[in-house]
Amino acid sequence: MGTRPSQASIAEIACALRGYVEHQRELGVLGFPPGRAVAPPPAPAARPTRVDASTPDLFTAPGLGATRSLEELRAFIGDCRRCKLAPHRTHLVFGVGNPRSRLVFVGEAPGRDEDAQGEPFVGRAGQLLTEIITKGMRLRREDVYIANVIKCRPPENRNPEPDEVASCEPFLLRQLELIAPEVIVALGKFAVQTLLRTKAPITQLRGRWYDYHGIKLMPTFHPAYLLRNPGDKRLVWEDIQKVMHALGIRGGRA
Ligand code: URA
Repeated sequence: MGTRPSQASIAEIACALRGYVEHQRELGVLGFPPGRAVAPPPAPAARPTRVDASTPDLFTAPGLGATRSLEELRAFIGDCRRCKLAPHRTHLVFGVGNPRSRLVFVGEAPGRDEDAQGEPFVGRAGQLLTEIITKGMRLRREDVYIANVIKCRPPENRNPEPDEVASCEPFLLRQLELIAPEVIVALGKFAVQTLLRTKAPITQLRGRWYDYHGIKLMPTFHPAYLLRNPGDKRLVWEDIQKVMHALGIRGGRA
């Protein structure tokens, strides 16, 4: 005979389960498929005969999909505590730029400068991204939209972990649905591999078109990588030219 779980561990499991269900509801999940029965179903007489559909419950409250603008989405995310990055952040870095842009850049996660200022790509790598946008594409930074896969800085700039991505990526996806850009540029190995659900190396992925939920996605190297490997700027410029061609932008020279 195995030992019976303590009251405390049952309470802990119930608490984790409640958090999971609430998060799924926020993401717009309306119910769960029936699993294998672990106990015989109650006798028919014990079942409620009527469900009051007007009572909001875990499965009917409006969710993420009900947000209709970036402002509403930002309000929905709120003072987010959904993952273990929350206690480490200074600012939640939502994203910046034109909410109707045809072009969105997606990086990995905020670094130190971004966490301090609450805006993506404002450090050294950000300056290089800004040059690509302004000098290369001859656009203004505020003409495009810039976001990250993860909205809070991981401690010591470590890679975001799968549970953090699972909590945060739905917000990026809703952001992209609301902006409805024609093209996403995914910056660097982490963003590309996460969005495309692949382990293929960035060297193999970059420079080709992919589909991300119906939006054209172009992977390229991360600007931080370019700071260490300036010789590869030429390759990024090739990728960016493909993006400009797809958008009908003339641009300059990076
Ligand atoms: N690197 C990223 O991937 N995102 C930022 O916002 C800054 C640096």
